[in-house]
Formats: sequence, C-alpha cells, structure tokens
Amino acid sequence: MSYRILGEGRPVRLFVAGLHGEEWKDTTDILESIQAPQTGTLAIIPLVNKGNYVSTLDDRYFTEIGTSIIEAVEELKPEVYIEIHSYSAGNLEKLTGAGRLKRIGVPAFSRLDHDVLLGSVAPYIRRKYFPQDALCLTFEIQKDNPSSKQYARKIINRMKEFTSRDEFLECMLDKYPNQARKAIDDYKAFYGLSDDQI
Ligand SMILES: [Zn+2]
Repeated sequence: MSYRILGEGRPVRLFVAGLHGEEWKDTTDILESIQAPQTGTLAIIPLVNKGNYVSTLDDRYFTEIGTSIIEAVEELKPEVYIEIHSYSAGNLEKLTGAGRLKRIGVPAFSRLDHDVLLGSVAPYIRRKYFPQDALCLTFEIQKDNPSSKQYARKIINRMKEFTSRDEFLECMLDKYPNQARKAIDDYKAFYGLSDDQI
C-alpha cells in the first residue's frame, strides 16, 4: 500500500503530489502536513515519483511510474481525485492559452489567484478509472513563487472538505464564475453532454 489514510468512511478523496521529475520539491510537503478532513476519508500519496519526467498525458505514465496512483484508485474508489503539480512561469501562456486544446487535445488550464492553475486530469485516467460523476482536478503551483504555493495550500485544504462535485462547483461559481463555467463546459465537451445533463 503506497498511500496514507486520514479520517474514515465515505466520501473518500485521493490527493497525490510529486508526480514526476522535480515537482516533489514544490508539492510534496503540502500533503505531508495536511490534516484529516472533518468528514470522510482523505488518502494521500505525497510523493509518487521523483526522477525522470514523464507527462501524465503520456499513457505510459499510469502504467509505469504512476502505478501507485492506479492501485490506490482501484482499492479506494475515491469520489474526489486531485493531482498537485508545479510549473515554470515561462510555461504560463502554453498552459493557459486557448491553443492548448488544438495543440495537444486537452483543455487549457484556468488561472486562479496567485497564478495557481486549475485543470482537468489526463483523459486516460479519467475515462478508464473514474465514474462520470467523480470530481477529478489538477492544480498547478507556480515554481519559485511562495504566494502561489501558499494559496494552493489553502485551496487544497478547502478541497479536502468537499463531499461532492456539486458542492465544489457551487463554491467555484461563487468565487471564480468564469473559470467555473469553463470547467463545466470542458467537462460537457469531454463527455459529449448537452446543457440539461449537467
Ligand atoms: Zn506535473
């Protein structure tokens, strides 16, 4: 078992950090110091892999260096799954620009405060391992930016208390209406849903 359990019962959330390359330096300690949620369970993998960088969009990621994530998902069947990544400021435009969908087939990230980015997880794991109503998100922290990390830590702490996708969307629509609408549109496009199916 490669994950650690905090709390008990459902809902179950799985948060993972340090997914590849050097990203553990910016992300692992956020999960190492996290406390149990008020209700349900939080499972954490603070460090999935350090070493070579393999993108999570590469299908080999989840069959090679990220197998501990798949094991945890299969055992725990989490309702909420969150990846914490980090990115260099120089890649901000590439990650958030509208051209991302056309270029690599996944939606652009949304920009939250302090250059924390919010996006979906890789289609491979989303489609193969999660039911449609699960909440699966990626947060990207800007490297060498303490306020970005601090804000991400705050968001992650808030995320562990959500018990459903709807609760999260309600909160997002309140604080980040544009980003929330984009997340909903991306989700609908991914599953080929119409407006009344959300
Ligand atoms: Zn990453």
